[in-house]
Amino acid sequence: MLTIGRFAPSPTGPLHFGSLVAATASYLAARQAQGRWLLRIEDLDKPREQAGAANAIIQTLADYGFEWDGDILYQSQRQDAYHAALTALHEHTYACTRSRKGLPTLPSIRVRAPDHPIGFIDSIQGNYCQVLSRDVGDFVLLRADGLFAYQLAVVVDDAFQGVNQVVRGADLLDNTPRQIWLQQLLGLPQPDYAHVPLVLNEFGQKLSKQNLAPALNTSERLQTLVTALRFLKQPCPDACEFSSLSACWDWAIAHWDMPQLKPGNTHAG
Ligand code: GLU
Repeated sequence: MLTIGRFAPSPTGPLHFGSLVAATASYLAARQAQGRWLLRIEDLDKPREQAGAANAIIQTLADYGFEWDGDILYQSQRQDAYHAALTALHEHTYACTRSRKGLPTLPSIRVRAPDHPIGFIDSIQGNYCQVLSRDVGDFVLLRADGLFAYQLAVVVDDAFQGVNQVVRGADLLDNTPRQIWLQQLLGLPQPDYAHVPLVLNEFGQKLSKQNLAPALNTSERLQTLVTALRFLKQPCPDACEFSSLSACWDWAIAHWDMPQLKPGNTHAG
């Protein structure tokens, strides 16, 4: 079966080292399997979007030598598909209005969380299981401000794009059972999942746009890629051993070894 992977950044700020690590892992997993690698801009949440960030992310990925297949998918253009999915789920959802200080607000729409366990085997993190009714509760699919929620959009779009290999940051591990539940309700296939360790800053926080992780520099791309590969526990030679950025990519695709990332693996280079 053709492997189809993807990178799905939200344009809330420029690409930083943590997102480079996630992009690199998903790219290498897809390319090593001679699969396709897609780019999707998750521009659902317009209020949180930073002007120009989507184009800046795309440019930085291109500068770093990522080559995506096909056209870039923008979630802002997929409202009809999310609406159709929400309609298909109507037996499992309910509207919920919480008015603050008596102000009438639009309802959000939630899906009922099941009482049975939903588990899966993550290629890096191993077995992971949640009882959604206990661990998460009924969760929002359409927000009170009229925006579709990430959980719904990601499931609809992964299926639409034929994605069967999701490689992304470990901060999304605990979102995965919610996504599997929606896949089950909608009759969609379940991709394989691999959640890569997060890059933390000096305070032990996830590098993110919210805590102002610095944008990736584009002047030392080869060195930065080598650093990302070593973070991913790949025994990558020093940058000076490569004649070019693309020579480093060739090495990384040929040698990609996801099991190095399993917790407790001591064979890291
Ligand atoms: N758009 C999400 C983010 O930037 C990632 C979604 C995903 O990979 O499933 O955090």
